[in-house]
Amino acid sequence: MTLDKAYTPEKVENKIYQFWQKSGFFNPDNLPGKRTKSFTIVIPPPNVTGELHMGHALNATIQDILIRRRRMQGFKTLWIPGTDHAGIATQNVVEKDLRKEGKSRFDLGREKFIERIWQWREKYGNIILNQFKKLGASCDWSRTRFTMDEGYVKAVEAAFSHYHEKGWIYQGERVVNWCPRCQTSLSDLELEYKEENGKLWYLRYPLKEQTTGDKQYIIVATTRPETMLGDTAVAVNPKDKRYKNLVGKTVILPIQNKEIPIIEDRAVDPKFGTGAVKVTPAHDITDWEIKERHDLEVVKVINERGSMGKESKICEGLKTLECREKVLAELQKENLIEKTEDYVHSLPYCYRCHSLIEPIPSKQWFLKMDVLANEAIKSVKSGKVKFIPRRFEKIYFDWLKNIKDWCISRQIWWGHRIPIAGETDVLDTWFSSALWPFATLGWPEITKDLKTFYPTNVLSTARDIINLWVARMIFSGAEFMKKDPFSVVLIHPTVLTKDGKRMSKSLGTGVDPIALCEKYGADATRFGISWQLMGSQDIKFVEDNILMGKKFCNKIWNASRFVLMQIPSSELQIKGKFQISNSKLTVADKKILKTLEKTVKSTDKDLETFQFGKAARALYTFFWHDFCDIYIEKSKSQKDKKNSQKILLYVLLNSLKLLHPFIPFLTEEIYQKLPIKNKKECLMVEDWPKR
Ligand SMILES: [Zn+2]
Repeated sequence: MTLDKAYTPEKVENKIYQFWQKSGFFNPDNLPGKRTKSFTIVIPPPNVTGELHMGHALNATIQDILIRRRRMQGFKTLWIPGTDHAGIATQNVVEKDLRKEGKSRFDLGREKFIERIWQWREKYGNIILNQFKKLGASCDWSRTRFTMDEGYVKAVEAAFSHYHEKGWIYQGERVVNWCPRCQTSLSDLELEYKEENGKLWYLRYPLKEQTTGDKQYIIVATTRPETMLGDTAVAVNPKDKRYKNLVGKTVILPIQNKEIPIIEDRAVDPKFGTGAVKVTPAHDITDWEIKERHDLEVVKVINERGSMGKESKICEGLKTLECREKVLAELQKENLIEKTEDYVHSLPYCYRCHSLIEPIPSKQWFLKMDVLANEAIKSVKSGKVKFIPRRFEKIYFDWLKNIKDWCISRQIWWGHRIPIAGETDVLDTWFSSALWPFATLGWPEITKDLKTFYPTNVLSTARDIINLWVARMIFSGAEFMKKDPFSVVLIHPTVLTKDGKRMSKSLGTGVDPIALCEKYGADATRFGISWQLMGSQDIKFVEDNILMGKKFCNKIWNASRFVLMQIPSSELQIKGKFQISNSKLTVADKKILKTLEKTVKSTDKDLETFQFGKAARALYTFFWHDFCDIYIEKSKSQKDKKNSQKILLYVLLNSLKLLHPFIPFLTEEIYQKLPIKNKKECLMVEDWPKR
C-alpha cells in the first residue's frame, strides 16, 4: 500500500473522523481489551449561542491530547461533551431576532417566547459541537448533555430542594447590577466596562450646626450627582485625621432638605476626591455594604426602568441624565458646587444589550455560602484538588474567604425556573453548571456511569471562571457526592493576538480556528497550538506556528511514504520493544533506537505533567532531525536491508503513536497503511509506547 504523493487534509480528516465514529471507540463501553481504570473529562460546556474561538480550540486540543493518550494507555476513557443553556446570552440572541419582526418578548408572552428559544436551539444550538468535531475532539457524542435536558432539570431541582431543606435558601433585598432593558439582575461576569470621560463634581453639604459666621460644609466628590437625592449619610475613613472633629455630626442634604449623619467606614478611600463621600445605599453596591454596617436608611430614587422614581421628588419621571442636569442647576443656584474636574472612569454596561447598568435594590433569592465555601477551601487546602499552575489557588482562596451569599435568581425567562410555587424568576446559569461533573453522569439517579466515571480526573478551563464555575463545582461535588469532582484543575493560558492584545470578534482581533483548519488542516492547527503551550505564559498567537505545523505534517507524510516504499508489502512482525543489544545492528541503528527510547520517556513524562509544548517540540526534533535527516538518510546506504526495514517501520510506528494525541488524523491515516502483523483496528486504540 502506498500513500498519495502529497498530503491533503481535506481528503483525509472527514473520512477519518467518520471512521472513528463508526468504530464506536469514543464511547468507553465499546473500547477493546480489559480496562479497569477509568479516565474522565467533562468539557466546559460552551454556550449554545457560541462559536468556536481560539480559547476553545486550545482547550479542546489539550483535552483531546489527554484523552487520546489515556485511551492508548488502556484506560476506560470518557470525554463528555455538552452545551450550556446560557440564560441571558441565549435569551438576548432570540430577542434580537424578534426585534427584526418588530416584536419584544413581552409581545409573545413567556410561554411562546420560551418555545421560540427551544426552536432556535434545535436549529443552531449544536453548531459549536460540530466545530469541536472538525478539530478532531474524541468526545463520546452518545453522552452529549445540555444543561436544560430532561435529566438535567431533575438534577437542578434535586440540588435546589436539598439546599432548601437545609435552610440555606432565603429571600432578601440587596443592591444588584440591574439592566433596565433586559429587566434582570446580572452577575459581575455579565458586565462590560467602558472607559469614559466624565466629571467629578465637588458638592457642598452644609453642616446642621453652624458655629461661625462663614457657612460650614463638608465637601463630597461624586461622578453621579443625581444619586444625591437618595443619600442617607456622608462617610469618611476612620484613619482620616482631617475629619475627626466632624464625625458624628449632622449635615443637611441639599434639595431634599434632610438631616443625614457623618459616619466613619473602612470602605472609604481617603485618596478619592476630598476623602469624604456621599453614601447612597440604594444605588451603589459598596454603599449598600456601608449601610449594613451602620444601619442606614435606604432611599431608592432610580427605578427598574432606569428613570427617576417617586422618592426623587423634584425629579420624578425624569431620565437619570435629565435629573442630573436639574440637580446641578439647583445646587448651582444655592452655590453648593465647590468645583468640577474632568474624570476618566469605567462604567458598567450590560454585556448583551449594552445598556448602562443601574445598581438598584431588589428582592432576590440567595444561597447561604458559609458551609459550602468552607468545603471548597478544604478540598484545595488538603491537596485533594490541585490547581496547575499553583498560583491560581490564590484567586480561589481570596474569593472564598471573602464570600457573600450567592444571588441565585434572575428575572429573565430562559432558564431553570426556581422550583418554588408562584415563583417566576429563573436560576443563575451557574447554579446548573455547578452540577455539571455529576449531573452529566446521571445524578440524582445513582447510575452505572456515575459509579464508573465519578470523580472525573482533569478539569481544563480558562482562568476567568475559576470562581464562577470551578469553585462552585468543587463545593457542589463535596456537598452532593461527598467527593471532589476532579483532582486536577488545569488553568490553560489565554490566547492573545501577536501583539499581546485580547482577541475579540467584535474588535476584529479574533482568529477563527475553523478557518485555520480549512487553510492548514486540523492536525496542523492542533500541533501549532500545542507548540505554543510553554509553561503557563499567555500565548501571543502567531499564525506561522500553524504553518510550521503544516510543514511538519507534510514531513511526516513524506517520510512515511518513503518508509512504505522501502519495505515489502507483506506484513512484518513488530514486537513490543526492539532489542538494542542485537549484534547485527549498526551504530546508526542503535543510535536511533536509543534516541527513540529517550523520546518515549520524555514525551510520556511531559504529558503526565501537562507540558504540551515541551512534548511537541521534542517529538518534532526527534522525527525531523533524528529520524528523517539522519537515520532515513543513512538507511539508504545500509547493506542489511532487512534489519533497517524493520527498524524504519518500528521507529515510524512508535513515532505515530507518540504523535497521535497531537496529530490524530494524519497519524491514523498512515497507520491504516502500515504493513504490520496484529494491527489494531485503529491507531486510536493502539498501545501507548512503554517507558
Ligand atoms: Zn441588557
